[in-house]
Amino acid sequence: MDLKTMDQTYILPTYAKNYTNFVSGKNSVLYDEAGRDYIDFGSGIAVCSVGHGNEKLQNALCKQLEKITHISNLFVIEPQAQLAKKLVELSGYDMQLFFGNSGAEANEAAIKIARKYGEVDGEPKRYKVVTLEHSFHGRTISTLKATGQQSMHSYFGPFPDGFEYAEDMDDVYSRLDDHTVAVMIELVQGEGGIEPMEKQKVQELAKELKKRDILLIVDEVQTGIYRTGELLASNLYEITPDIVTLAKGLGGGVPIGAVMTGLKDVLGPGDHGSTFGGNYLSSTAGVTVLDILEQLKSSGKLAEAMVYFSDKLEAVAQKYEHLFFKSVGIGFMRGLRAKDADVQGKIIQRCLQEGLIVLKSGRNTVRFLPTLTVTKDEIDEGFKRFEKAISTL
Ligand SMILES: *Cc1c(COP(=O)(O)O)cnc(C)c1O
Repeated sequence: MDLKTMDQTYILPTYAKNYTNFVSGKNSVLYDEAGRDYIDFGSGIAVCSVGHGNEKLQNALCKQLEKITHISNLFVIEPQAQLAKKLVELSGYDMQLFFGNSGAEANEAAIKIARKYGEVDGEPKRYKVVTLEHSFHGRTISTLKATGQQSMHSYFGPFPDGFEYAEDMDDVYSRLDDHTVAVMIELVQGEGGIEPMEKQKVQELAKELKKRDILLIVDEVQTGIYRTGELLASNLYEITPDIVTLAKGLGGGVPIGAVMTGLKDVLGPGDHGSTFGGNYLSSTAGVTVLDILEQLKSSGKLAEAMVYFSDKLEAVAQKYEHLFFKSVGIGFMRGLRAKDADVQGKIIQRCLQEGLIVLKSGRNTVRFLPTLTVTKDEIDEGFKRFEKAISTL
């Protein structure tokens, strides 16, 4: 049975999937089974933060696997405590962490913390979470409901109550009432078209929410772990959220999610848990990824690569203005706003034919999420292939 048949026979068809069979990778280059190379500007959707086949990460994981992989959270886990300490120190936030396995789970935990906070602090009980239209917060029943895209609420109901959507940052204020306990936002919407929020508006909202004792949850599942140049986009925006969620880039490919909060005494024993969360394998991955990226950032190389990439993207946006409205995004979370969904789809398809992986975002954005360790040569080659792919459009 060939791979495609096997996949279609045994895997549920939840993805419009591509059947290129990748078998190995080195930093931002992937190889398929025929030995063909591809420049990866998608990083497994912002996951492969330290590139494919990163030796330092491989070595740390192999060494850890030789010792111990899992023991459950009924026992203290040394690399988990170290990872939490590192995230607190690098973020500069006086917070504690809980580890799960994915972004949706991290957001579930964030919502639980907010709901409990709103339940125990008096009458009326506060439970409402306001999110933005075009947001994306996950695929579980409640994070799907938190996701402000009506098209994703067609099935699967009834959903839990207590979510409300604001059209944009300005509209958030009119959605706040006596039952609102939290506002949850992405600082750069990842699935919703690479849409950065305005810094000043974010800071004003943070201030207003603090005044009204409404929590600010920042979903940094995609923006976090140096994707925007700082450990957290919240650092870049110079705010201190009440709750921050992480996942994607934190494990460099090993599944891990985390919720960070300054609300250290809201959840108590028994309120929340995860069998796998933050085990030796995923925590070791997190610690190692942060070691690598912290160094990359402090050497100035991360910022340098981001500028180099940005210049190339901007040049392409201008040269092909019949295809794109503009380049968008921050750091290594970038996009080209295409003229329409048809152009977007064609570009992604043609790029793959030319050996370049780029992603879709929103209705008409071509999304670029390179590995944070991407080299100038890889950037050059990637954009060469990109131009080749789009030159005949
Ligand atoms: C990917 C993503 C999620 C969901 O993460 P999973 O690991 O797929 O559950 C949530 N929020 C944002 C902003 C994301 O980009």
